[in-house]
Amino acid sequence: MIQLNSRALSVATQKHLQKVRQRIDAKPDFANQASKAQSEWNSKSGSVTKAAVFSEIKEKLISMCVGVEVCNYCENNEATDIEHIYPKSFSPERAFRWENYLLSCSTCNSKHKLDRFAIFDPNLFDPFFEIPRGSGKPANDDGVMINPRVENPLEFFWLDIENRTFILNPQLSLDSRGTKRAEYTLKLLGLNDRETLRTARKSAASYYIDRLERYVKVKEATTMQSLEAIAPEPLFVNTTLPFPEEQERIKAALQNDIRQYSHPTVWQELKRQRAQLPKTNGYFKRAPEALEW
Ligand SMILES: [Zn+2]
Repeated sequence: MIQLNSRALSVATQKHLQKVRQRIDAKPDFANQASKAQSEWNSKSGSVTKAAVFSEIKEKLISMCVGVEVCNYCENNEATDIEHIYPKSFSPERAFRWENYLLSCSTCNSKHKLDRFAIFDPNLFDPFFEIPRGSGKPANDDGVMINPRVENPLEFFWLDIENRTFILNPQLSLDSRGTKRAEYTLKLLGLNDRETLRTARKSAASYYIDRLERYVKVKEATTMQSLEAIAPEPLFVNTTLPFPEEQERIKAALQNDIRQYSHPTVWQELKRQRAQLPKTNGYFKRAPEALEW
């Protein structure tokens, strides 16, 4: 999970969302607001105008996705669902707020996160509380889950690459509140509990390192023959082109492979933890431009 680069909505779409929010706010109490938010959501594409609004929202969210349309929580599956970071049942006022949306896969949305929501409540002995469904308006909106629209999850987690467990751990430097936020988010989204994700992160690390190594070798190549030996299939070298042109094309293709691959958290962590990874660190030294990718 990495922070998303937010994009702006058109004025027309912002106005549409504002009108829907006003209809929800106009309801007399929390229960009615929550049920209005749900019915507005169910009919959000119910007319040509509404469909255009949500088509723009979906398109913008796709362009903000990490990797190629990959879920912003697990980074493993296709991002299909418009997900409310604050669930609409607990936060109807945010049901039509742009800042509350991201794209997730249906597994993360429907099997893990659902509409679970925890807050920090200073009135409770344990100030950490997942609110039971249907319990009405939360005492506050001090959400526990890390919000990747406005926060950098990598300030809360680190990925264990060195011991090859590929488990995400809370940062040791966090205070107790930060640690609870990290632990809750990992548990809520099942980011460590799903073995598939840990295995996929491990494979992603090998892939990224392979592409980086090839990039370094292409960068340092001096003959067309060595380019042919390094370029991975199905990326074929066109020997009829001038060498510098072909070298740049292969470099760009390898950079693109890295930029578009799923599990960008793994790439970010390879960069951040490179001092502990001598081989990878060596590649970054030979191609420091890759630290900007
Ligand atoms: Zn997912």
